[in-house]
Amino acid sequence: MTRLEQAPGRFRDVARAKLADAHVQRAITSVERLRSHRLEAWAELPGVEELRQRAHDVRMAAVGDIDGHLARFTEALEARGGHVKVCATAAEACAYVTGVCERRGAKLVAKSKSMVTEEIGLNAALEAAGIEPVETDLGEYILQLAGDHPVHIIAPAIEKTKEDVAALFSKVEGHPVPAELEELTASARRQLRRVFLEADVGITGANFAVAETGTIVTVTNEGNGRLVASAPKVHIAITGIERLVPALTDLAPLLELLGRSGTGQRLTSYTHLVTGPRREGEEDGPEELHVVFVENGRRNLLGTKYEEMLACIRCGACLNVCPVFRKTAGAAYGPVYSGPMGAVLVPLLVGIGNAPALPHASSLCGACTEACPVKIPLHDLLLELRRDLVEQHAASWRERAALTLWSLAWSRPLGYRASTFAARLGQGLAVRVGPGRAWASGRALPRLARRRFRSWR
Ligand code: SF4
Repeated sequence: MTRLEQAPGRFRDVARAKLADAHVQRAITSVERLRSHRLEAWAELPGVEELRQRAHDVRMAAVGDIDGHLARFTEALEARGGHVKVCATAAEACAYVTGVCERRGAKLVAKSKSMVTEEIGLNAALEAAGIEPVETDLGEYILQLAGDHPVHIIAPAIEKTKEDVAALFSKVEGHPVPAELEELTASARRQLRRVFLEADVGITGANFAVAETGTIVTVTNEGNGRLVASAPKVHIAITGIERLVPALTDLAPLLELLGRSGTGQRLTSYTHLVTGPRREGEEDGPEELHVVFVENGRRNLLGTKYEEMLACIRCGACLNVCPVFRKTAGAAYGPVYSGPMGAVLVPLLVGIGNAPALPHASSLCGACTEACPVKIPLHDLLLELRRDLVEQHAASWRERAALTLWSLAWSRPLGYRASTFAARLGQGLAVRVGPGRAWASGRALPRLARRRFRSWR
């Protein structure tokens, strides 16, 4: 099983545990702050709808010609001395990155936040090769110390409180670290300084890759991404093939919306553009730069009704508004992508039969679609996935049998009358036994009316 695949009952089991965990329920309320900040930030923008449409158009132009943009990016970056590698699978990407590290004799790797490296399981691959990867994004570092996975794409450690973090940092430092934000930040600085100074290789993600110039763009709030990309002698940037944009000018609407949609900031604190390794006469930057584009199932979406999902800019806004995410938190969706974007993307990357519960992890209220800065119709895509589940027979036999019976009964007046009569008689029993009981747990079902509408005359 790959890191993205999951067993059918996993979502339900983990969600149930998280719902019963008062600590998680308290911690997850902080997504409300992200949601309200986004609304304030969007309200400041004149013509936010036009801007969202422009951002959507830019992303779809990129997705519509991925191979052309990849070729242009490669030509531009190689002309400046960089290396480009396109990897079809997670294993191929891990092998390439590990190979570069081994060739350079690397023992210590500094990483900045990258969901693609989570997706391909890069840390485990590096460790297996005897190379120590250290996360330098504060949230990711906390999770690495705890041995946990991200639960939110922009706030990965949102389930951890400052007391949790103080306990982890105290263990590393060997003395108690107070659970105060300034103390915790100072402690993280002390622990990570060595890593920035001594790392042989720096690994970052890339929010965007500009085809016209061969530029990679990283957007961070802590400044760690800039250190990781410039202090070590080798920089490897890893991203999905869909993160290309045609030209530098196309970044404007995307950057304007990215920070506002994720955290409510007008602009994320650090926007770092890298075009090639260090050139002669320059003081900063790596001697060697590699950009690794990962496919890992993304080509499955090209030219299909799901292609728009590749427009995602990983802002996290859909998670913050989703009523399912806001109660179940992120772990139920799996170790990498969560919330509505994860519920759509993961089944498409791994095949719907390998993550069949995710399209059902939604109330279909449409809040995700309304919040998405690049106008991805997330709840429509979730509905399409549910339809595909049934058509591809990936749904359980019970679900398929129930839907077939329902469809047969309601295709005929007699069947409709008989089934509604039986439902009125058996409604109390149906939600107390078997699958009906599981389905009704957590739901308050209204009782069916005593008189049918058709009998009103
Ligand atoms: S689907 Fe839209 S709202 Fe969700 S993370 Fe992607 S860009 Fe943001």
